[in-house]
Amino acid sequence: MTAFIHELLQDSELCPIAEKVFSGQRLNNKDGLVLMTTQDMTTLGYLADQVRQEKVGDEACFYINLNINPTNICAGRCQICAFRRDEEDSDAYVMNPDQMEEKIRQALPLGLNEIHVVSALNPELNLRYYEELCRRIKTISPELCIHGFTAVEVDFLGRLERLPVDIVLTRLKEAGLDNMPGGGAEVFAPRIRQLICQGKISAERWLEIHGIAHQLGLTTNATLLYGHIETPEERVDHLLRLREQQDKTGGFSCFVPLAFHPENTAIENPHLADGNDNLRVIAAARLLLDNFTHIKAIWTYLGAKMAQTALMFGADDLHGTNVNEKIVHDAGSCQGNQIGQDELVRLIRDAGRVPVLTDSRYHFKKILSSGEGLS
Ligand code: SF4
Repeated sequence: MTAFIHELLQDSELCPIAEKVFSGQRLNNKDGLVLMTTQDMTTLGYLADQVRQEKVGDEACFYINLNINPTNICAGRCQICAFRRDEEDSDAYVMNPDQMEEKIRQALPLGLNEIHVVSALNPELNLRYYEELCRRIKTISPELCIHGFTAVEVDFLGRLERLPVDIVLTRLKEAGLDNMPGGGAEVFAPRIRQLICQGKISAERWLEIHGIAHQLGLTTNATLLYGHIETPEERVDHLLRLREQQDKTGGFSCFVPLAFHPENTAIENPHLADGNDNLRVIAAARLLLDNFTHIKAIWTYLGAKMAQTALMFGADDLHGTNVNEKIVHDAGSCQGNQIGQDELVRLIRDAGRVPVLTDSRYHFKKILSSGEGLS
């Protein structure tokens, strides 16, 4: 650390952490708690931004993606969920493959490059149904990245079909699955899982399934659902368990913090995250998750302005256009149902960063040089 920076930071509780960051030392649980509770947002942002710059430079990613939620009929009863329905509910639905194909074809002119498939736990929909969906997507265009199937869904399909999850994942991969989202991780602490998603797979099972996916060559995302009843200690524990898994199997491509939205859920009196708290989670993740490359700030959860600010606090990915997003909108997100790619490019450029069109695998990059647009 230069003398100048040292002088700048000397009054900050983050100074010892800055020393570690600049000398390449791994941060521990105690450091994480300081990061997750500090009021020194200037220093926190500075440190996270330095690490982001070192890892990914000035590039900030986005995608043009469509959400497909094949059904909302769910055998689960997570208290955090506003999306699930029982079969007899008037707005319960199941989409057939033709309907899903039509939705995708309608959205193709937007320049789609990714389909985000997240379903519910519907015992009537078997593995063959989801294989057919993946094949249809790849028939429409082999270039479309299929980002789909949470560990919770994969576990459910395994139990439904009486198959081990490596077989379920192998079959989905052969049908076209490219990479998995991080949903269902919520908060790993058993105390929290009991209160917000009783009956969902355990933290250990979630981590095991992601580890199996990594061994099969699938990259996956990791999430943290924050801003309800969790403590800072539980957030830090969650991040460190993700880091430990990444050390073992190395297949997480991105960390995705998800700010909780309470409408139509069964969570009473949640401690919703405010602006600083949103930024604290993103910055703490950038600093603690030293073995992750990408940190996402999703505008549907944060709002476009907060997501843009997060680019200065360690994030390097604004996610996608999110056409047809339902899950967080059912829980009260009022961020509109879609943001155009031109708006994402503008948000990134106005933050002083270089927009890069990619997909959840980060396999290809279309760098948009100054003034260049997509349309
Ligand atoms: S979060 Fe997923 S598993 Fe839980 S009730 Fe909602 S749809 Fe079902």
